[in-house]
Amino acid sequence: MKQAKVIPLEGELLRFHVYSRSRKGIKHLVDLGEHEENGQCGCEHFQNIGLAIILASVRNGFTKRCWHIDVAREHFCNEMIRAMKRKEEGKL
Ligand SMILES: [Zn+2]
Repeated sequence: MKQAKVIPLEGELLRFHVYSRSRKGIKHLVDLGEHEENGQCGCEHFQNIGLAIILASVRNGFTKRCWHIDVAREHFCNEMIRAMKRKEEGKL
C-alpha cells in the first residue's frame, strides 16, 4: 500500500485526517468507529457509495471502504502493535 499521510485528531482515538493521494493539500476526515467498524470517510468516493449500501454491506458481513479508511486502519493497527510491543517489553 502506498505511504499516506495520516494525521491523528487531537484527543480522539479513532478519527484521522488522511491526505488525498491525487490532489495535493486535500485531506479527508476518517472515523474508524462508524458504521459498525466499517469506518466513514468524507471523500467523494465514499460519500457516493451511499449510506444504504454501506449499511446493507456491513449487515451482510462485508465492508465498504475507500482507500483513506484502509490507510487510516493500517496506521491505527501499526500504532496498536507498537503499543502492544512496548507493553510486552515492559513485562520482561
Ligand atoms: Zn475516503
